[in-house]
Amino acid sequence: MSSVSSASKSLPDYALEARGLRKIYGTAGSGTAKEALKGVDLQIPRGSIFGLLGPNGAGKSTFINIFAGLVKKTEGEARTWGLDITTQSRRARAAIGVVPQEINMDVFFTPYEILELMAGFYGVPQAERRTDELLDAVGLADKRNAYVRQLSGGMKRRLLVAKAMVHNPPVLVLDEPTAGVDIELRRQLWDYVRELHARGTTIVLTTHYLEEAQELCDQIAIINQGEVVACEPKEKLLQRMDRKTLVIQPVEALSAIPEGLSGFDASLREDGGLAITYRKGEASVAEMIERFRASGSRIDDLRTEEPNLEDVFLALTYNNPDVQPPTQDR
Ligand code: ADP
Repeated sequence: MSSVSSASKSLPDYALEARGLRKIYGTAGSGTAKEALKGVDLQIPRGSIFGLLGPNGAGKSTFINIFAGLVKKTEGEARTWGLDITTQSRRARAAIGVVPQEINMDVFFTPYEILELMAGFYGVPQAERRTDELLDAVGLADKRNAYVRQLSGGMKRRLLVAKAMVHNPPVLVLDEPTAGVDIELRRQLWDYVRELHARGTTIVLTTHYLEEAQELCDQIAIINQGEVVACEPKEKLLQRMDRKTLVIQPVEALSAIPEGLSGFDASLREDGGLAITYRKGEASVAEMIERFRASGSRIDDLRTEEPNLEDVFLALTYNNPDVQPPTQDR
């Protein structure tokens, strides 16, 4: 049970796979029923660091918890590492480690004891346990025998990551891994996640913290109101945002937008710079600069800004027309 990856004859294309996955909380047809997943099709490629993004209530936790065996699906198919979570549930569960959002641990045990107990729970034989190696990897070697109640919030979170890895699963899911974690610890956790990924673990993380997804993930799905609204490599997703911003820094701060630029989507920045947003291919930067010069102002500096993940996310979840439909060749 401890090593699903080596037991498999051939490696699956997808770490997690959902087809027509539906979840209705409550009784269907009753006034309180809530359709949290509306027939989700989503394939998470083996070997990726995959970000599952969406606003609160989008259905991210429901999706993850179905694979973790904590929520029962209403309809559809779900596979972990190629294994059906219903008909091959034991092996499917062994292929996944889930780091939950809430820190909920027995505070009277030590980190070492907690990991040993978890390994026992998964039936990992003594000879295959890596308790000290895991403690070391999450920077808790020196807290090996401390009581969990003495650990800081960040340390507890790292212990949760180690706990999810005791059975060496090929897929690690982190649910909002750095919510409430300070910047230094966040970077430490990201480094560890990258290291696990480099060693072959497929990483899936849910986050509404877009900087985290932009920094870590190579593939991204955006889920909104129980439906997947985008799923593609990060770079491609960013390219879908069909606009750019030209920022002109004048020698002397402007007090108003120059008249010649009134037909453009221009705004003044607090530092006196002028930002002009345009669709790629639809406006001439040379013309913008010419009109700016014609107003009598001198240019100190010029730069362009590309959209970031936050722009794409907002566009996709709030129906902003700036975002382009996906290209077909993914
Ligand atoms: P997210 O993780 O993206 O914030 P969730 O999966 O937690 O979203 O929730 C999706 C929707 O399902 C929300 O509308 C939420 O209120 C509802 N929901 C989640 N869990 C339950 C539950 N146990 N009972 C009823 N409704 C639920």
